Amino acid sequence: MHRSRIEPVWKEAGVDHRKAARPSKKPKAVKVCVACGRAFTWRKKWERCWEQVRYCSDRCRSLRRPG
Ligand SMILES: [Zn+2]
Repeated sequence: MHRSRIEPVWKEAGVDHRKAARPSKKPKAVKVCVACGRAFTWRKKWERCWEQVRYCSDRCRSLRRPG
């Protein structure tokens, strides 16, 4: 009696290539809010006055004001 032996055939063509390295985007500017102390990232609305931005939001800016 002959026993038919089936051997698994591995094809390299089907190998799933996964790139571990992600294309890193440009690091966005980050500042720390002087009111709440939390870090916040650059936003489109600050593109013209980013250097003067100190608060993460208008809310924090108003909190800073006395009254
Ligand atoms: Zn804040």
